[in-house]
Amino acid sequence: MVEVLVYTKAYCPYCKWAKQLLASKGVGFREIDVMSDAELERKMRKESGGRTVPQIFIDGRPYGGFDEISELDRRGKLDELLGLKPIRGGQGSPVPNAPVSENSRTEFSPLRVGGGSDGGVPPPETEDLVILGSGAAGLTAAIYAARANLKPLVIDGLQPGGQLTITTDVENYPGFPNGVMGPELMDLFRKQAERFGTRIIYGEVSQADLKRRPFALRLGPDKTVRARALIIATGATARWLGIPGEKPAPDGYGGRGVSACATCDAAFFQNQVVAVAGGGDTAMEESNFLTKFASKVILIHRRDKFRASKIMQARVLNNPKVEVRWNTAIAEVLGDGKVMTGLKLRSTADKSESRLDCQGFFVAIGHQPNTAPFRGQLDLDEIGYIRTIPGGGPRTSVPGVFAAGDVADRVYRQAVTAAGTGCMAALDAEKYLEETNHE
Ligand SMILES: Cc1cc2nc3c(=O)[nH]c(=O)nc-3n(C[C@H](O)[C@H](O)[C@H](O)COP(=O)(O)OP(=O)(O)OC[C@H]3O[C@@H](n4cnc5c(N)ncnc54)[C@H](O)[C@@H]3O)c2cc1C
Repeated sequence: MVEVLVYTKAYCPYCKWAKQLLASKGVGFREIDVMSDAELERKMRKESGGRTVPQIFIDGRPYGGFDEISELDRRGKLDELLGLKPIRGGQGSPVPNAPVSENSRTEFSPLRVGGGSDGGVPPPETEDLVILGSGAAGLTAAIYAARANLKPLVIDGLQPGGQLTITTDVENYPGFPNGVMGPELMDLFRKQAERFGTRIIYGEVSQADLKRRPFALRLGPDKTVRARALIIATGATARWLGIPGEKPAPDGYGGRGVSACATCDAAFFQNQVVAVAGGGDTAMEESNFLTKFASKVILIHRRDKFRASKIMQARVLNNPKVEVRWNTAIAEVLGDGKVMTGLKLRSTADKSESRLDCQGFFVAIGHQPNTAPFRGQLDLDEIGYIRTIPGGGPRTSVPGVFAAGDVADRVYRQAVTAAGTGCMAALDAEKYLEETNHE
């Protein structure tokens, strides 16, 4: 039996996801929380070569953090390393020798559906309703569908609980007059969905065939799930700059000054100085909105002109509370270990560096909807958001496929709107299944 060791820190969402991934494999593991023990953290760094948590060791060899083991899982290698499958072509290499690259991903064979099966394996049972994603939209859809006795199957994706699990206080979700922590809110959604019989499985859909019925969804390297009706609630991922200090706690100041959502977090910065990164419409909108709360908004842009529409630019440039720093890149988020205190800036003109003191930093460089498996299968807009039928609620271009939450919403992107469309999608899916006699 293999020995699995996971170094973690409390309140680290990536640690939680790594543990969920391992638990989904049915393997036991030992956890060492290095939060309050500097000596243990030093040991972890020395043995893993990593500076972030989690760090995962299998039989004493380091395999990196959550991103690395989920990539190994996508390639079917994790099961081999965990002794769940015979090893093909030698043992997977530990992280230092074999960084996982885009190019090394397994190519999937075309999805076969209908009477056939994948690789001679008996065809999987067909689910009435599969819901992709366990954020506010997916779990709300699950609550409604489960209460309607549809026994929905939720596929969690790599971020169980969705985007709210990487934030701290949520103050605008109705029903919580004193606010609620994002991960706690999503645990409550999950418990409520499970209470009515929702089944939730860990895994990411990498490929979908929506052209034939039942729909086929490829999960991991060798599993296919079939569904008569499908709700896609895979969300949209905020684009980040990828600079040091930007990640969520405990690795950076995400949720401790750094945010990607002014509507969500602007009110935390009453009379404080905040910076915004970006040059498109999102950055203009966020900057203007922030001036309602902040004493000053410093809009930082790499170039000497904005990409945003003229009207949005004019609003920002005429706002006395906004100061623009042109030709400036952000090199690092600085902080005191607890909260962010400023930014390290670098001129794109002469490379000179400077420090900007500010209490908040909003990254406003857009979102990427998580729709890669549905390209060519569904009508998507130019960014990749799912287009729903005008006046048709969450219905998409394929009958029986519904879209809910941020994946189909480039405007509002809030937990409550995601939950609302999740409810609509479940009610419509129920109606669709009734009309088609669950065939
Ligand atoms: C830092 C931060 C703070 C925020 N604060 C607030 C706030 O205070 N108030 C508020 O209302 N909103 C807030 N938001 C916005 C809010 O989180 C989103 O609007 C909401 O989470 C959208 O829910 P969703 O279910 O559509 O998608 P998500 O929450 O993004 O969930 C998507 C789900 O899909 C899964 N998934 C993705 N790809 C696949 C795949 N291929 N196969 C299977 N599953 C997949 C993911 O694992 C995840 O479970 C915040 C967002 C961020 C990033």
